[in-house]
Amino acid sequence: MHNTSIGAGYDDIRDAVRTLCAEFPAEYHRKVDEERRYPEEFVDALTRNGWMAALIPEEYGGSGLGLAEASVIMEEINRAGGNSGACHGQMYNMNTLIRHGSEEQRKFYLPKIASGELRLQSMGVTEPTTGTDTTKIKTTAVRKGDKYVINGQKVWISRVQHSDLMILLARTTPLDQVKRKSEGLSIFLVDLKEAIGHGMTVQPIANMVNHETNELFFDNLEIPVENLIGEEGQGFKYILTGLNAERALIAAECIGDGYWFIDKVTNYANERIVFGRPIGQNQGVQFPIAESFIEVEAANLMRFEACRLYDEQQPCGTQANMAKYLAAKASWEAANACLQFHGGFGFACEYDIERKFRETRLYQVAPISTNLILSYVAEHVLGMPRSF
Ligand SMILES: Cc1cc2nc3c(=O)[nH]c(=O)nc-3n(C[C@H](O)[C@H](O)[C@H](O)COP(=O)(O)OP(=O)(O)OC[C@H]3O[C@@H](n4cnc5c(N)ncnc54)[C@H](O)[C@@H]3O)c2cc1C
Repeated sequence: MHNTSIGAGYDDIRDAVRTLCAEFPAEYHRKVDEERRYPEEFVDALTRNGWMAALIPEEYGGSGLGLAEASVIMEEINRAGGNSGACHGQMYNMNTLIRHGSEEQRKFYLPKIASGELRLQSMGVTEPTTGTDTTKIKTTAVRKGDKYVINGQKVWISRVQHSDLMILLARTTPLDQVKRKSEGLSIFLVDLKEAIGHGMTVQPIANMVNHETNELFFDNLEIPVENLIGEEGQGFKYILTGLNAERALIAAECIGDGYWFIDKVTNYANERIVFGRPIGQNQGVQFPIAESFIEVEAANLMRFEACRLYDEQQPCGTQANMAKYLAAKASWEAANACLQFHGGFGFACEYDIERKFRETRLYQVAPISTNLILSYVAEHVLGMPRSF
């Protein structure tokens, strides 16, 4: 495994996560993928060892680490051949609750999440009829006495079957009654055990990766008013705390994937002899690998910049988006080179390349597609005209 100086200073975390990941070798992740089941043992081990409570302040029983450290944990999981998609929700949701929740909510939920009694793994934003146009979501929350009544539908909501809590985005003031379309949206903590079967239905979506994701239907689901996070109508601002964290964390996961692909293909290119020499002696083989390595390294710099700004509570939307864009692109290039230079063997499940190839491909589309990042940068950073 090569080492560079980017992200130096996290050696203790890296060593500890690597040691834990070594207990769950490639065979484990391959089998879990084959069986299309949740890596329960792996997530349990992460929880028992305190990694799932990394972002929870020490006074509530966590480790009080920042997003940079959380991103290193996610990176190492992917670099070890695993898939953080099973557990990253708890990391990116956490600051939404910590920064915008009330002291009562923090006191009630955080120690339980830190001990592993509760999981906060899900965030419900995307809807089938509005897609990326988030402010047009149609799920509504209407206040009736001491309850909010939720109606609507969500799609692609991950880890609902392996979480106790979900942060839900819903419209509390109709779109035609707000000055700005980002107003009138609110976020809620949904107790999933109470909700399922009592106004909320979960329909699993079989998909290309072993990723537990679902369609959700809300039919008069009642949520206590004390589960509103922050101020009613300001939810869009709050959900960005989670979305920016998610982008930076997924950048780190793609970087972990990128290093995994590069290590795998470099080793193979050095060993595989065809035409009497290692395939890695051919520049046609070397160059795509070297290129993707350069791109992973560059993405890594942007990822740490995004995390730094996030942890300092400075605006970081641009850097988080750019880090995710660069890292997803770099890991995809590395995945292609890895598959290509393994020849036929790249397609054999036992090499794990086809699995990681599928897993890393997701990040061109989710949690935000590359086109939407480009349009964000064009409009908000470069000042070009708004196109939609
Ligand atoms: C496995 C998986 C897990 C997910 N988990 C979650 C989750 O836990 N919670 C959650 O809320 N969501 C989740 N999502 C949803 C994910 O965030 C969305 O799929 C993603 O944001 C894209 O939205 P969409 O699918 O509605 O695509 P659309 O918005 O319908 O877009 C479709 C395509 O058109 C392009 N496009 C659309 N508009 C424009 C434009 N104006 N200019 C240029 N191109 C455009 C997009 O780039 C995209 O490629 C998940 C998705 C997947 C696949």
